[in-house]
Amino acid sequence: MDGREQPLLIAGGGIGGLATALGLAQKGFRSILLEKAASLGEIGAGIQLGPNAFHAFDYLGVGQAARAMAVYIDQLRLMDALTADEITHVDLGANFRARFGNPYAVVHRGDLHGVFLRACRASELIELRVSSEVVGYDQDGSSVTAHLANGVRVTGSLLIGADGLWSNIRKQVTSDGPPRVSGHTTYRSVIPTEEMPEDLRWNAATLWAGPKCHIVHYPLSGWKVFNLVVTYHNDAPEPVAGQAVPEAEVLRGFAHVHERAQSIIRHGRDWRLWVLCDRDPNPRWVDGRVALLGDAAHPMLQYFAQGACQAMEDAVCLSHMLSHYPDDHAVALEHYRAQRFGRTARVQLLSRAIGEHIYHPAGEHARLRNAIMRAKSSEDYYRDLAWLYGGTGLAS
Ligand SMILES: Cc1cc2nc3c(=O)[nH]c(=O)nc-3n(C[C@H](O)[C@H](O)[C@H](O)COP(=O)(O)OP(=O)(O)OC[C@H]3O[C@@H](n4cnc5c(N)ncnc54)[C@H](O)[C@@H]3O)c2cc1C
Repeated sequence: MDGREQPLLIAGGGIGGLATALGLAQKGFRSILLEKAASLGEIGAGIQLGPNAFHAFDYLGVGQAARAMAVYIDQLRLMDALTADEITHVDLGANFRARFGNPYAVVHRGDLHGVFLRACRASELIELRVSSEVVGYDQDGSSVTAHLANGVRVTGSLLIGADGLWSNIRKQVTSDGPPRVSGHTTYRSVIPTEEMPEDLRWNAATLWAGPKCHIVHYPLSGWKVFNLVVTYHNDAPEPVAGQAVPEAEVLRGFAHVHERAQSIIRHGRDWRLWVLCDRDPNPRWVDGRVALLGDAAHPMLQYFAQGACQAMEDAVCLSHMLSHYPDDHAVALEHYRAQRFGRTARVQLLSRAIGEHIYHPAGEHARLRNAIMRAKSSEDYYRDLAWLYGGTGLAS
């Protein structure tokens, strides 16, 4: 392929775009990454990383740096938000690591993005350009040209659309309209550890599940802070991203849950709101020399905590396919799409399903959830999750 002479173009400098630039550089491909924002960064919240993320870190050459900034939690803990009783937990200790070959961890998004960014800056094969919004592209038999909002044109061998939920590249690849508004409103806060109630400073990713609402918390950044994410299924009609909101608005959806669960919210500060969106799986990810990746290809609700993990798996798979079929971009992109579509579609659809059946059920539905989940051992959960945590961006 002509990819080693002409640079590849990547639209978007989020986790997916940076991971792609790194994966391509590992295989000797030059890339130009075009980011809309005036600087490269991530929002100040946390992110959970399944073992599959660690496989991707190693493949992308940042395994050591990523491991150094993670907090290794002991459990995924499920609490009943109405009674404040534990429903169940999944042990993430030695047996989990032995089973999946890697740990489960939580990190600050800024720290993770920083690891990727430093590695990209250290590579002679990666050029990072900010204030470069890609608004469209055209292509011919030998190259593709990205059109930037500022009038600049950038030409490369391929264009990877890693430009997130509202992807401009996707608009041209699929024309399948805007994302689906889920009606679930998420509020995020990060608080210093000393402000987290002492009896809740668990080394766990804890989920308090209640009727049409839930709360998630876990420690971050060497236990300096706790990440709080609370979600309320209030049928919000419009997409919103990052809007500041007062505590009273956050509490409004939680008047019906146990006082202990409500008290977590009272410790939050500087709350910001997102109305969550996703899409139905759509197999059209490729248009000639253009391919989608990460949220641009398969936006999902966060209930499996896998959106960024899947974006990194995409980067691994794409890099692998381009190096494996260096003389035929069409074959490489089709193999990438074919290998990634089924797995990411499964995560998209199951994320919705676990939102409905684990995070938000009420009444008899919730009692059934508790009974089913209490009856399972950690080994049972490992078996259920093996397809996800035991998988990678590469064919098994
Ligand atoms: C509440 C919440 C919790 C989550 N928790 C987890 C979790 O625990 N674990 C997990 O793995 N995932 C989680 N996710 C999902 C994860 O955040 C996303 O899936 C992931 O960040 C997607 O990365 P991306 O690079 O594809 O897109 P983005 O992070 O959206 O990055 C896109 C980048 O492209 C830029 N851009 C946009 N348009 C253009 C354009 N036209 N031209 C150039 N640049 C452009 C943007 O500025 C941005 O930098 C969560 C999501 C939410 C909402």
